[in-house]
Amino acid sequence: MKCRRCENKASVHMRQHKLALCKEHYLEWIPEQTERFIKKYEMFTRHERILVAVSGGKDSLSLWDILVRLGYQVDGLYLGLGIDGGIGYSDESRRLTEKFANANNLKLHIVDIEKEYGQPIPVLSQISHRGYGKPCAVCGLAKRHEMNRIARDLGYDVLATGHNLDDEAAVLFGNTLSWSGDYLLRQGPVLAGAQGLARKVKPLCRFYEREMTAYAIARDIEYIYEECPFADGSQSIFYKESLNLLETARPGVKLTFYLNFLEAKKSGNLFVDRNAGQALLHSCPKCGQPTSAPDLCSFCRMIGKASTARTPDLQL
Ligand code: SF4
Ligand code: ZN
Repeated sequence: MKCRRCENKASVHMRQHKLALCKEHYLEWIPEQTERFIKKYEMFTRHERILVAVSGGKDSLSLWDILVRLGYQVDGLYLGLGIDGGIGYSDESRRLTEKFANANNLKLHIVDIEKEYGQPIPVLSQISHRGYGKPCAVCGLAKRHEMNRIARDLGYDVLATGHNLDDEAAVLFGNTLSWSGDYLLRQGPVLAGAQGLARKVKPLCRFYEREMTAYAIARDIEYIYEECPFADGSQSIFYKESLNLLETARPGVKLTFYLNFLEAKKSGNLFVDRNAGQALLHSCPKCGQPTSAPDLCSFCRMIGKASTARTPDLQL
């Protein structure tokens, strides 16, 4: 198959977008789309200072790379969580993050949780007895707290994270399964800032995970392949796998799920009972059943039409 934009052979095929591009044009398309999403959701402008949370993974490093290529003022923040998991997870992710920053001459802030607070995340988790054996609750809490602290103390206008569509769709799926109304109402590409709280944005929220992998590989970004060892068996991975099954059968379903949710939220239709207060029912003059139609109910109208129409020749 050929690239949509030139005569070369396409190297990235996106069934869900019915789009195929060569490497060169794919590397143009991703930043173009990111810029479009930044503008559409009013994430930030070129006059604002952005702090991107980088973990050493493909999404956050790619996000940093894209924002720099687009000419935004963006620095990085790496949080050292002190997670080893037998693979030196934190050490390796820090090494790759520093390598990327140095190679591109970018400013990187590093905060080591153990140095700041005396213990690494897994120990803090054990001591505080939160999270039923997994450190994720404490880790999430610490990440949110530290990202906001650094953004506020160093005067950044906005905090950007590398969440992709697979991440967002999985969170949405989980929140929908449990009908967590508060979480659903807060989920979106932008979380407005408030006093003392930095604005949070997710510029990659409409890209599939595999699109970000393709970008990182095409840009030769060296990233950590391993997931955090504590992610194994997590609910979010289960939701991602479930959505992947749906996506295989119906390409594009993940994107539609997320975008239609954003639309419903924007139009104020999420959790609005449209029938409330407008149950203007009356009795159908023919059958007496309640109906909202102005005269005969839909059923009686249908029967009325059928009885006046010429009987078709049925072939049974
Ligand atoms: Fe933190 Fe690892 Fe849990 Fe993610 S999976 S929240 S990085 S402990
Ligand atoms: Zn091309």
